[in-house]
Amino acid sequence: MGSYLLKRIVSQKLPVSIDVFESADELGTGMPYREGMNADYMLCNAFSREIPPVTRPLIDWLESQPRRELGEWELSTHDLSPRAFYPRTLIGEYLGSEFAGLCSQARDAGFDLTIHTGCKVEDISVSGKQALVSYTNSGDGIQEDFGIVLIATGHTWPCEPKIDEARLVSPWPYTTIEALPQGAIGVLGSSLSAIDVVVALGHAHGQFEEHSDRITWHPNDTDSDLRVTMVSRNGVMPEGDFYYPFPYEPLQHLTKDAVAKEIGKGADGLLQRSFALLCAELDAADPDYLEHLGQEARTLEGFAPRYFASRREIGGLPAVKENLAEMRKLMRARETVPHRYALLRGHEVFGDILPHLSQDDYKRFSEALMPVFGDCYAAVPHVSLARIVAMYDAGVLELLATAEDAAFTQSDDGQVSVETEDGSRTFNALVDARGQSTKPLSELPFPSLAAGFSGDAGPILEPFRLDTGDQSSAAIYCLALPQILERHPFSQGLCNCDALAKVVVDDLAGRLAI
Ligand SMILES: Cc1cc2nc3c(=O)[nH]c(=O)nc-3n(C[C@H](O)[C@H](O)[C@H](O)COP(=O)(O)OP(=O)(O)OC[C@H]3O[C@@H](n4cnc5c(N)ncnc54)[C@H](O)[C@@H]3O)c2cc1C
Repeated sequence: MGSYLLKRIVSQKLPVSIDVFESADELGTGMPYREGMNADYMLCNAFSREIPPVTRPLIDWLESQPRRELGEWELSTHDLSPRAFYPRTLIGEYLGSEFAGLCSQARDAGFDLTIHTGCKVEDISVSGKQALVSYTNSGDGIQEDFGIVLIATGHTWPCEPKIDEARLVSPWPYTTIEALPQGAIGVLGSSLSAIDVVVALGHAHGQFEEHSDRITWHPNDTDSDLRVTMVSRNGVMPEGDFYYPFPYEPLQHLTKDAVAKEIGKGADGLLQRSFALLCAELDAADPDYLEHLGQEARTLEGFAPRYFASRREIGGLPAVKENLAEMRKLMRARETVPHRYALLRGHEVFGDILPHLSQDDYKRFSEALMPVFGDCYAAVPHVSLARIVAMYDAGVLELLATAEDAAFTQSDDGQVSVETEDGSRTFNALVDARGQSTKPLSELPFPSLAAGFSGDAGPILEPFRLDTGDQSSAAIYCLALPQILERHPFSQGLCNCDALAKVVVDDLAGRLAI
């Protein structure tokens, strides 16, 4: 996010001097793309062309890399494609190199730019005209005043994750997962982070062998005792990546204009009216889709159960195996899946209504529709699914839904148990792969700033400028993920960073022009 903010400030030639604070030693990379935190077998689920360029597109950067360097990533020039998925750590190298290029551009353009690497911002306080930023540099505490602060601190994870009363294992750095001893290991979640955890266990305790399209998994020891169980509420995994035209083709019913009109009519019934537009879009994309799901699918609360029904009926990993085979076939034929493409494009437009929903309707949206949109944009690279299927075929992996109202319990010897739809399961360790949870502004990781917000302060909305009351005339913008996810649940993902940065920098440019 920080890179895209800097890119926008530089391209808009804002009259500011810039200080960048990064607690890590590398710049531009970010937590999900940093080596050490992530393994090189963990793939980014955005394909090359979807990633917004910083100074140049990822594919151009890849093509400029020497063959030897590509070889270290087991890539040849034939593997480079705007439709390909790449390891997150490779994307981290791209982002780091782009950040360096951006800094040069900024300085060439006359910006006064200071980079503070290895400097953790500990606090931000807002009294007087300026915001006081407190940070540490090699153990020394330093304070500096700024008139504008842009917060882009990414994810926040609990130090000791828990569910109910059970302690969980954090999935980062990935070496924690690789170090888990064999035996019964549970993974809480069944989406992209959970897939990463399972694949890390597969790498630690065995080997994946690729035979053209097919991947098999073999344990390191003949007496291997690895038994991995993914547990989630629904017991389903997102479907495989599918072929679709990009940039997106226009929608017919769920358009920006149509949604703006509905917003104009007021919050009362807005969710229902927007859902009707979504149904019209699905009908236009594939007249049989909703018909096939049944009348119930045309209701807000009935849509998600019908959407997930076939995967639920086939069952966790058998459904994954079937879907992977189908998506591979369609990808080869360059045939799109009309309802998935409509949902994928539609979720972005649907995002426009969310800040305008009443509290009750937002809750209704989160429970009824968000699981569908979340599932749809979490489309999984085929290689990742093939690794999951390989471990399933080897008999070491299952995916189960938790039983209704199931609670996780922990025994004195540390084992975690839960009731699933397939009976009770007990794990030596349960890994937390639920992804980022939302947090209110009162839980920002800067105590003085957070203290200015009560627990029930409303969510931060575009243009993401914090309302610090009369405390300060400094402009403080917040793009920290747990806070923006509160009302912008689609904002997570590399593809969104540039658009979010644009919103902030456009607003800032307007203020500076006054
Ligand atoms: C494990 C994981 C995998 C993901 N995979 C994908 C994917 O495949 N595709 C996709 O589109 N999205 C993915 N995401 C979503 C991700 O949110 C975005 O891709 C994007 O990285 C978010 O950018 P960011 O700048 O907000 O956060 P980050 O990239 O994490 O950057 C935040 C930076 O702020 C620094 N920082 C934090 N606190 C401080 C402080 N107090 N002082 C100084 N510096 C600080 C951190 O060190 C970090 O470098 C993934 C997320 C996670 C957690």
